[in-house]
Amino acid sequence: MLSIVSTPIGNLEDITLRALRTLREADVIACEDTRTSGVLLSHYEISKPLISFHAHSGDVKVEKIIILLQEGKHVALISDAGTPGISDPAYILVKRAIEENVTIVPIPGASAVLSALVGSGMHMHDFRFLGFLPVKKGRETLFKSLQNKDYTVVIYESVHRIIRTLSDMEKYLGPDHRIVVARELTKKFEEFKHGTVKECREYYEKNVCKGEFVVIF
Ligand code: SAM
Repeated sequence: MLSIVSTPIGNLEDITLRALRTLREADVIACEDTRTSGVLLSHYEISKPLISFHAHSGDVKVEKIIILLQEGKHVALISDAGTPGISDPAYILVKRAIEENVTIVPIPGASAVLSALVGSGMHMHDFRFLGFLPVKKGRETLFKSLQNKDYTVVIYESVHRIIRTLSDMEKYLGPDHRIVVARELTKKFEEFKHGTVKECREYYEKNVCKGEFVVIF
């Protein structure tokens, strides 16, 4: 069995009872960064063999986990934060496991996309999640394709690129386009900044800009 276990996005209390039970029952936990996951696991006194699985894990690592699954082992997959597969590695492993008739069990929980969306006050019946925008190729085309759309768009952004992304949004969507920037969700300095693209860009240029971001427009 391959369990896809959602873990917190900042607040260690945001984990379900079922997720904790699954992590305790699993034979092996596959995680991105053993030190990051170690903080969560030690907080809940869970001690299991860990195997690393990250964005740069090649086919060899995927097949190693597939062998464990074929041997009848219960593997729990977690990522550094939130739901594995949502802008985090999972897809290749899940796809291969399905090909091998392994039972896939998703354990739902925290994900920045939904927390940001429900706290934003933006229309959420019809939304499109784009994850991280392309850094170079396809970026301009993507922004242009989003002009004059009437659905809500949610993107992920890192501290290193937030100003650049807000500047590009100002250029392609217009300075008066209304957006919400959700920062540090579930953490001590959680913040929802509402305003025009220009106002938000100026705000984050002036204020100390730290943490993780979700932009909704
Ligand atoms: N799997 C995660 C999920 O389910 O949300 C996403 C992982 S992705 C590698 C990391 C990005 O998610 C960050 O750059 C940020 O855009 C967003 N993110 C994750 N945690 C966040 C938080 N606490 N507050 C705001 N954004 C967050």
